[in-house]
Amino acid sequence: MEDSYQHKGLRKKLTEEIRRKGISDENVLAAINKVPRHLFMDSGFIKFAYRDQAFPIAAGQTISQPYTVAFQTQLLDVKPMHKVLEIGTGSGYQAAVLVEMGAKVYTIERQKDLYLMSQSLLGALHYRLHFFYGDGYLGLPTYGPFDRILITAAAPEIPEKLLDQLKPNGKLVIPLGESDSQVMTLIEKLGENEYKRSHHGLFVFVPMLGGKQ
Ligand code: SAH
Repeated sequence: MEDSYQHKGLRKKLTEEIRRKGISDENVLAAINKVPRHLFMDSGFIKFAYRDQAFPIAAGQTISQPYTVAFQTQLLDVKPMHKVLEIGTGSGYQAAVLVEMGAKVYTIERQKDLYLMSQSLLGALHYRLHFFYGDGYLGLPTYGPFDRILITAAAPEIPEKLLDQLKPNGKLVIPLGESDSQVMTLIEKLGENEYKRSHHGLFVFVPMLGGKQ
């Protein structure tokens, strides 16, 4: 689990590339510069770890493109000590970025092998967060409410139960739409039943599916 000078150099270049693409939150850029993405990749793709691209991981899923991770994290407006719920742990890369932002992270994955793999990897890297094996559509009612909720899979609609688990003034970021492309959507909870919705461009994610596997 080596993080060499070469890896660090490539990561710094990737961070600057993401900055040029429009990410301006210094805390987000610092987090991208810290997380050793090559350790989250399948062995066949390690040499591409610092390209700004999504790659396949186990169970037919993907590790998101670093720009997309940075974009979602910036939009989520994460502050230190925020309680953040992530839906779709996948490789655990986005979760590690959230921990680097100083958040208290709760992450849910519906695929058992990914849940187990990410838990052991992040543990070995000394990232402290809470892992759950389950259906993200249900959220974590007993652990909420959350300051921030981040969905990292494409959902056809906003899961009602997740809105209920958002604190007043909380924010939820979700790629909304069908399989070919989704609209990055920010939901701000203004009051008990009052929400503001804004749209932030098109992205492509793997689908959010119900149940566990
Ligand atoms: N955040 C991840 C990206 C993973 S891709 C990373 O940084 O690597 C999306 C993930 O969402 C996949 O692992 C998929 O299995 C998971 N997923 C899809 N539907 C889900 C659901 N209902 N609940 C929890 N996880 C889900």
